[in-house]
This record gives sequence, structure tokens and C-alpha cells, in this order.
Amino acid sequence: AAPRTFFVGGNFKMNGSQESMKKIVGALNENKLNVGQVETVIFPQNLYLIPTREQVRKDIGVGAQNVHDKKNGAYTGENSAESLIDAGINYTLTGHSERRTIFKESDELVADKTQFAIEQGLTVVACIGETLAEREANDTIKVVVRQLNALADKVNNWSKVVVAYEPVWAIGTGKTATPAQAQEVHAEIRKWAAQRLGAQVAEGLRIIYGGSVNGGNCKEFLQFPDVDGFLVGGASLKPEFHNIVNKW
Ligand code: PEP
Repeated sequence: AAPRTFFVGGNFKMNGSQESMKKIVGALNENKLNVGQVETVIFPQNLYLIPTREQVRKDIGVGAQNVHDKKNGAYTGENSAESLIDAGINYTLTGHSERRTIFKESDELVADKTQFAIEQGLTVVACIGETLAEREANDTIKVVVRQLNALADKVNNWSKVVVAYEPVWAIGTGKTATPAQAQEVHAEIRKWAAQRLGAQVAEGLRIIYGGSVNGGNCKEFLQFPDVDGFLVGGASLKPEFHNIVNKW
């Protein structure tokens, strides 16, 4: 089987200014990044998508952090997948835990957004993961499988999906899952994929880890066979993002 291309995403969340975005993009353009081997995508907030796409080197992808599940029309304040494609923005996140918890997005809505985005031509980084209470109740796999099944009920082209396993308790907290904990869940996700989607889809599916990954701890994950990359929040705004892409 062909090896899976390592994927590193930088989720800038609701951060940045015109000046800071210029600096980040300038640094990405100047540095020797390993993007030949690593599919690298940054996810700035909406306001900065187009200037970022225009200014950042072409071998780095640009994506949105959220997308609506319907075509253009009377959906005030929403983010159109068609318009993203029109602007050369070829990726989106869906189901980030901040969307699920703060904005009350359900498993079904996340699945609808994911499928609609794929139909429009976007590659989707679909985020799943358990809360601390769910982990402590030993429900991690149950929760992750519930979120995955909801996706599988709608999604018809898994080659356009990267699954991001992001334990909610590890996001923005400075507390990472241990690489072994991540590997354990990633292996379960791949097992689920083999059963539900078939061996070939499971083999090709990228499963990336997110939750307080930084330039220091990223290396520890690399030896684990089911960790196919990272979704990076806080550290993606810092120079150490380059080390993560370059796997230093
Ligand atoms: C994220 O926002 O997806 C994330 C993983 O954040 P952080 O790296 O800051 O924990």
C-alpha cells in the first residue's frame, strides 16, 4: 500500500491582525519547509483567508475553520463552501471541539457540513474527540465511534477527509495525550474504518492528532504507526510550527 502523506494543519482560531498575519506568512515563505513530504495547511480566520491565499507560498494550503452545510443564499453570517472554492481556499475544518461545545454543533450537523464541503470540492479535516469527563468514564472509544458513525452516515468520499483526533481536555490546555494514548485511539479509529468503510479506505485514511502539540513534543509521536500528522492550535502561530512541519 502507498504510504499515507503526513499532514500538518495550523488552526489559528480567532487570532491575528493584518500585521501578525503578514509576519507569519512571510516566515512560512522564507523558511525551508518540508512541504514536499508533508501536506501543510493553515487555517486563518475568515477575514484573512484571501490575502493569505494570495501571499503564502503555493505549496501550502489554506483552509477555513468552519463552513455552512447549504448552498449560497439567505444564511446571514455563515461561511459558504462555494465561495471558499471560488477564492482558492481548498480546505476546511469541521467539528472542531470549540464548534461542538461553544456553538452547540451536533454530530449530525458536523456530518452534513463535512459531506456538503466535500461535494463542493473541499478537503475536510473532520475533528472528533472526547471530553475529560468522557475519558474518565472510560467512554473515549464509544464517543469517538459515535462521532465517526455520524460522519459515515453522510460522507461518501473518504479520500477527501482527514480525521483529527483531538481529546477536548488536551486542546489549549498544555496537556497532551501521551503519544501512546493517541496511538491507542488512532488504532481504534482505523479498526472502525476497516469495519465500516473497508480495508482500503482504512489503509489510506489520515488520522492526525491535535491537543497542545508543540515543537518540543511532536517528535515523540512520530514513531507511532497510526499518527499521520498533527492539527496544531497555539503553536501554529509561533516559529516552532516550522519545526513541527519539518519533524525536528
Ligand atoms: C486545536 O485548536 O485544534 C488545537 C489542537 O489547539 P492547541 O494546539 O492549542 O491545543
